[in-house]
Amino acid sequence: MPELPEVETVRRRLAPLLEGRSFERVEISDPRLTRPVDPFEVARELEGERVALVDRRGKYLIVRFESGRALLVHLRMTGSLRHAAAGALPDDPHQRAVVSLDDGSDVAYRDVRRFGTWLLLEPSEVDMYVDARVGREPLADAYKAKHLAEEFGRRRAPVKAAILDQRTVAGVGNIYADEALWRARIHPLTPAADLGGGEVKALHRAIRAALQAGIRRQGSTLRDYRLPDGEAGGAQHEFKVYGRGGEPCLRCGTPIEKIRVAGRGTWYCPRCQRHTSRSASSRPSRSRRQSSV
Ligand SMILES: [Zn+2]
Repeated sequence: MPELPEVETVRRRLAPLLEGRSFERVEISDPRLTRPVDPFEVARELEGERVALVDRRGKYLIVRFESGRALLVHLRMTGSLRHAAAGALPDDPHQRAVVSLDDGSDVAYRDVRRFGTWLLLEPSEVDMYVDARVGREPLADAYKAKHLAEEFGRRRAPVKAAILDQRTVAGVGNIYADEALWRARIHPLTPAADLGGGEVKALHRAIRAALQAGIRRQGSTLRDYRLPDGEAGGAQHEFKVYGRGGEPCLRCGTPIEKIRVAGRGTWYCPRCQRHTSRSASSRPSRSRRQSSV
């Protein structure tokens, strides 16, 4: 599933191609993309809109128009966007929508599993809609460790579940959560509220480093993710821990283990990321849970 580095990579590639251009013709062939709104209605509303800015919040790609309206694109599991010169789009049975721009080029949306969404919002709705669903941007200069600490202070959930919650920190999904926890040497099942100040600082740094590493390699292509020119990302070749079950930890050589946390496959190093029981005496229920892992 595309996470912040993948969506940010798409944003950076699409911005110079879309900004200043108008949506001349829009075809949406899959009603699931816009439901419950009629896809023909959305397509008609989009025609004539001129792009002011290609923006991103968390995993949302936000096409902001000069009118103040915005198209929120969420790629979910398998969505991707492809840009091509006029008539150069490849034939694709999974193509769900095509936007023809006023310079003759096309942007196509493809989605194999069809969980992606296109939502057209009026100017007064955009910020409210996004802020209700997405927390702080982890790569913003203003994002500090204290913001993460504030979110963790209230949470008994395992730290991995906490950082997968998009309201805790925007854009971190299963891959970059595992990568960040490995970098910070924190066991994914540690209750978020039990992390010490030093650990929260390390995790804050690690989240940013893991996301930046993903962006540097233009995102990770495990299956469907593609850049707008059709190329694959390269971050999957540099994963520290994600998907490396049984392989040696890059720090200590211990075989990487896989468990499930918050229903998601989770990889960690059992030596570098110890599950210490910090307050087991005051909260016996947690030590039982630890022993079952
Ligand atoms: Zn290790």
